[in-house]
Amino acid sequence: MSTTQVGIVGAGPAGLLLGHLLHLNGIDSVIVENRARDYVIDRVRAGVLEQGTVDLLMAMGVGERLQREGLRHDGLYISFGGERHHIALADLTGGKAITVYGQNEVVKDLIDARIATSRPLHFEAEHVSVGALDSSRPTIHFRQGGTDHEIRCDFIAGCDGFHGVCRQSIPDGALTNYDRLYPFGWLGILAGAPPSSAELVYTYHDRGFALFSMRSPTITRLYFQVPPDEPIDQWTDEAIWDEMLMRMTTRDGWKPQVGRIVQKSVTPMRSFVAAPMRYGRLFLAGDAAHIVPPTGAKGLNLAASDVLVLARALKAFYESGRSDWLDEYSAVCLRRVWKAQRFSWWMTTTLHRSPDETAFDHQRQIADLDYLTGSRAAMTSLAEQYVGLPMEISFESAGL
Ligand SMILES: Cc1cc2nc3c(=O)[nH]c(=O)nc-3n(C[C@H](O)[C@H](O)[C@H](O)COP(=O)(O)OP(=O)(O)OC[C@H]3O[C@@H](n4cnc5c(N)ncnc54)[C@H](O)[C@@H]3O)c2cc1C
Repeated sequence: MSTTQVGIVGAGPAGLLLGHLLHLNGIDSVIVENRARDYVIDRVRAGVLEQGTVDLLMAMGVGERLQREGLRHDGLYISFGGERHHIALADLTGGKAITVYGQNEVVKDLIDARIATSRPLHFEAEHVSVGALDSSRPTIHFRQGGTDHEIRCDFIAGCDGFHGVCRQSIPDGALTNYDRLYPFGWLGILAGAPPSSAELVYTYHDRGFALFSMRSPTITRLYFQVPPDEPIDQWTDEAIWDEMLMRMTTRDGWKPQVGRIVQKSVTPMRSFVAAPMRYGRLFLAGDAAHIVPPTGAKGLNLAASDVLVLARALKAFYESGRSDWLDEYSAVCLRRVWKAQRFSWWMTTTLHRSPDETAFDHQRQIADLDYLTGSRAAMTSLAEQYVGLPMEISFESAGL
């Protein structure tokens, strides 16, 4: 049996960021992750960082490689009817931008930072469970290398993603779940091809949504809308490229550059919020508490803003014994979470074709896109949400 101040379940962006924020405030933590280190690092997922997330990583001292290798984008394109329309994110938001830097790179940097602190980070933990959540000493149990471990904690942070154990360990009836499934998913590929546009291109096409993005100057990341249960083996590489080019090519001849597909998968799309984000001494953060469809590129960014709020509350508790910020944690996070949910839902429903849509819905979507790309007010609204609404609290209040 061992003890710690904060037991963190999950070494994704939420768990690793929280661990480092606590470290910077001199608070002990143990991170317990059920996957292997390489698996966690190689998992290809998000890639768009809001301005506030970039600023946070810099303020935490873990943004050196991000600053060097991240691709800052001052704008993006919305494409429909065969034409690309530019949205000048930075001009419309007083200089804010997004940065393309793979989630796996963020996770790699944070694992390196964690290891440099010599604070515990356990990979390949089996049979992870949490208990005594409504007591003053909640516990984490796991098995590693044939030995059972118990960690007694002051608090547990459930940062174990949508399918983790923490939210599932909360008694029935203590949380309200808000859930919405979409009748489509994304077929995504990573291709060894230099990006043919310096900025993202969101496309609404008669055959459905498509997204052009990138991970680096040599890797293109592309998606298109498919049914949510589409078997990936049904798509040959050639068929994928035919569909990408059909949806994305614009009248002026712009199209993605074709290259070797190095990874492909289908992801279903969902909006989900569990509230409150706390039960007893267990605090949920990131995907463990909420998920968004990836259209608005908000998931990783919400994980970052949640743990900033949690770090502030834990710092105040250990420094002065105050618990009001712990009590407010869920409400403060949910304000930002719901705005990001609304934005992600809007981006998704505006840009995808739904199997049950009517002719009226289709014309309304086109009018929506026409208005969006023709009105400075509408573009400003998209821009300020895309680069990220303000974090609810200051970095200083979390000890940065
Ligand atoms: C295809 C795709 C594209 C995306 N694109 C974007 C994007 O462009 N921008 C964006 O902001 N977001 C995007 N997202 C969402 C983003 O990846 C997530 O929101 C983000 O990973 C959330 O971080 P997290 O730390 O909360 O959860 P996770 O990254 O899921 O981390 C949870 C960790 O907990 C571990 N774990 C799970 N169960 C247990 C257990 N029982 N015990 C111990 N450990 C456990 C997991 O292995 C994992 O390491 C995308 C997601 C997908 C799938």
